Amino acid sequence: MAGQIRAIRGMRDILPPETSRWQWVEQVAREVFDLYGYRELRLPLLERTELFSRSIGVDTDIVAKEMYTFPDRHGDSLTLRPEATAQVVRAALENRLDRAPGVQKLYTLGPMFRYERPQKGRYRQFHQINCEALGADAPDLDAEVILMLMEILGRLGLTQVRLFLNSLGCPECQQDFKARLKLFLRTKEGWCDDCFRRREINPLRVLDCKSAHCQGLLKGSPVLKDCLDEACAGHYARVLELLNRFRVPYEENPRLVRGLDYYTRTAFEVVAAGLGAQDAVAGGGRYNGLSQELGGPELPAIGFAIGQDRLLEVLPPEAGRISPPKVFLAALGDAARDRALGLLQDLRRWGLAAEMDFQGRSLKAQMSLADRLGAIYVIILGNRELETGQAVLRRMATGGQEQVALKELPAILANFISGKV
Ligand SMILES: [Zn+2]
Ligand SMILES: [Zn+2]
Repeated sequence: MAGQIRAIRGMRDILPPETSRWQWVEQVAREVFDLYGYRELRLPLLERTELFSRSIGVDTDIVAKEMYTFPDRHGDSLTLRPEATAQVVRAALENRLDRAPGVQKLYTLGPMFRYERPQKGRYRQFHQINCEALGADAPDLDAEVILMLMEILGRLGLTQVRLFLNSLGCPECQQDFKARLKLFLRTKEGWCDDCFRRREINPLRVLDCKSAHCQGLLKGSPVLKDCLDEACAGHYARVLELLNRFRVPYEENPRLVRGLDYYTRTAFEVVAAGLGAQDAVAGGGRYNGLSQELGGPELPAIGFAIGQDRLLEVLPPEAGRISPPKVFLAALGDAARDRALGLLQDLRRWGLAAEMDFQGRSLKAQMSLADRLGAIYVIILGNRELETGQAVLRRMATGGQEQVALKELPAILANFISGKV
């Protein structure tokens, strides 16, 4: 006998009723995106490897260790997308969305792939809700993007969150900062192998090293905020001012850098209460140089990603577990079953979710199936009911029963369920 095939390590099946919570989260996000003028993009899961190595940075953990990269049959190097921002910019440039007037507000939902050590709440195929606003450097847009993120989280009932903010400055500010940081990093010994190498090539990446030892060595390191020039400092101050005005609580975190090379100016993360700082439910920032990095024109932009797997973990288990009120048709005998098929379609035409048994169960077994499916009404249909043109309507919560004319059943049930009677 052949062995049973299982899913790949770090990849999981998401099953009902959990999937209804996923749909609910996506629906809430879509509603808020609509309010703010964002439109959906649907993008491929595979891209040329170069897209990510050029944008995210060859020296980041993502590109160096975590990408699913393989040659296709022609030998081109392809990669399963580890994140969406670079891809959204690629798609916008390729389809000339950047030439349309106004800020291009785009969102996309779907799976991302990173070869990380699987652990609780972390998967190699994980899911993100991404939004990107392309075409403006205004701090007012940064504030709007953050407001929108908090609106989505708030509507989902996730109110116990901490928003961390920082400004990474422009490339000039970063250059100044990197020089100061390098000097600091040289004064300490005992870095992990990665940091030892990175402290000269890409010192910013030392700041997001996951080793607790390296994090300890970083105590007292210079912070970006001290290196911001007037324009970048003013940009950051305006973002904070607007968040104050709209009463969005935040905490400044001068060491927040995000794990990718392309960020400039505003950077932020949202951590749910009860999770460690490593476990942000959302994060984002401005990436003014990314378009040029990908061979495009100057295109200042900002965006965020919500980690959907982790978000669902921190939401209460009952949140989003919505299913429509259901009617179950219990039919006994071939004639009743045949009649039930027609009635089932009538009920659905009235907008009522309706089901019946297809496995020839006894009445008792059908009743327990109805219960398991969460039916709030059961219609019982046997030969006697067919003769009289009546059916028994049973309210599951109370066990109360009444006789109802078959013809009137859909209308009566629709009224019951919409609460009119
Ligand atoms: Zn600057
Ligand atoms: Zn390190």
